[in-house]
Amino acid sequence: MRNLSKSKIIAYRQCPKRLWLEIHKSELRDDSASEMVFQIGNQVGDMARTIYDAEGKGEFIDINGLGHEQALARSTALLEIGKVPVFEAGMAAGGALAYADVMLPDPQEGVVAWKMIEVKSSTSVKDYQRDDIAVQAHIAATAGVRLSSISLAHIDSSFVYPGNGDYQGLLKENDLTEEANSRRDEVKEWINGAQAVAALTEEPEAATGPHCNSPFACGFAEYCNRDKVSPKYPLSSLPRLHPSRRERIVVAGHEDLRDVPDEFLGAIQNRVKQCSVTDETYFDAAGAAADLAPHGFPVYFLDFETAMFAVPIWKGTRPYQQLPFQFSLHILAESGDLQHHGFLDLSGDDPSRACAQSLVDLCGEQGPVFAYNAGFECRVMSELAARFPEFAPALESIIERVVDLLPIARNRYYHPSQHGSWSIKAVLPAAIPELSYSQLDGVQDGGMAVSAFMEAIAPATPPERKVEIEDQLISYCELDTFAMVRLYQFFTGRQPSSLTNQP
Ligand code: SF4
Repeated sequence: MRNLSKSKIIAYRQCPKRLWLEIHKSELRDDSASEMVFQIGNQVGDMARTIYDAEGKGEFIDINGLGHEQALARSTALLEIGKVPVFEAGMAAGGALAYADVMLPDPQEGVVAWKMIEVKSSTSVKDYQRDDIAVQAHIAATAGVRLSSISLAHIDSSFVYPGNGDYQGLLKENDLTEEANSRRDEVKEWINGAQAVAALTEEPEAATGPHCNSPFACGFAEYCNRDKVSPKYPLSSLPRLHPSRRERIVVAGHEDLRDVPDEFLGAIQNRVKQCSVTDETYFDAAGAAADLAPHGFPVYFLDFETAMFAVPIWKGTRPYQQLPFQFSLHILAESGDLQHHGFLDLSGDDPSRACAQSLVDLCGEQGPVFAYNAGFECRVMSELAARFPEFAPALESIIERVVDLLPIARNRYYHPSQHGSWSIKAVLPAAIPELSYSQLDGVQDGGMAVSAFMEAIAPATPPERKVEIEDQLISYCELDTFAMVRLYQFFTGRQPSSLTNQP
């Protein structure tokens, strides 16, 4: 009997077929969605070592360097002695294997005992993490490791980094000792079930369904759906479809949104259906123009690019805080003259103050400030105002001028190619076909912008690559606001005249 790792047992909990594929056909797995999660997990794990071992006396078990056999042997030796903190301590017993993030010696009446802490990059305790802890605790107990407490430490989102490498308070511990210990019989059943599936010589049958994305997106989805013929307009193209309503539609046997009876759908969903059935565009031009008519000139169009860090790197910032490193601003005059301005900081230092200053300098004192899905831009500016009180009055007055273009697009325009989405990247190619994000070199979406920023601020990035990234980020962010300009002109019936500085 092989020892199944904790992650394989958790995979079995999600879907027995997933476990079987992980063991027997792992080459079919698409890992792209989980790479970022792993990177964040590694950052938090590294930080946990400095928090729980400030004196640096502990030992880190390097599984990749040692291999499982030696890692387990070294862990066993350290866990028997019980003198120093151990990180990634391996334990194997009862057909299962796990590596504990943090083991802190906690001798009790002369007997070696340990505080076990699992460290997670989430900001609260999730149900699947409770399963994870239960498996971990069961394996430790079966391996004869005495645990005085079992905790889960997650990121405390209210932590504000005081600087100077002081991360005390970043992690918040939750004692799950009683719960984890009470679930040992349950865990034993999971391990037995997982062992039985692992031993199968044939791939088990399993239909795809909601479980394929819960608690994690399964990397075998493409493989499992390989023979599935997707409808032209799947139910996933129905905007804001409540899961219970979706369930009723599925039970009624409908897979293509064009077949769903009208009574199942709300007003916007029915519009999506009608446009998909007739293959025609909905455009309430008079309504869109009326929505925009109250807003005078000059007209501003604003878009931020932000980065966030599970472990804050800049003093005064919180974990997962959206921190602007770039914005693009187009200013349209009544004459049709269009100016472009922007801000981008790739120095690696906190860009927030300079960003706030630049924004205040460029946004003037009157005229609507259009953003797309504007709640995000308002949140970013509110946070800048909270951090830099000297800019607060000016930033708050910009926030008061913000107008959201998204609800206007949602209420007044729909093209079947949008597939239920009013993101600017879905609306733009339909409404303004000559403009497209695919024409951009390199950075073409928000996720790529964040990755490019992270690469640019990394000390090892060569200067010439940094220049390349800078060009790509400027072009990308500029297109975001230029797209808004063109949508505004499309909705108001104005011609795109006198456009200067266009991408
Ligand atoms: S895609 Fe769904 S059915 Fe296929 S292995 Fe993954 S969880 Fe199971």
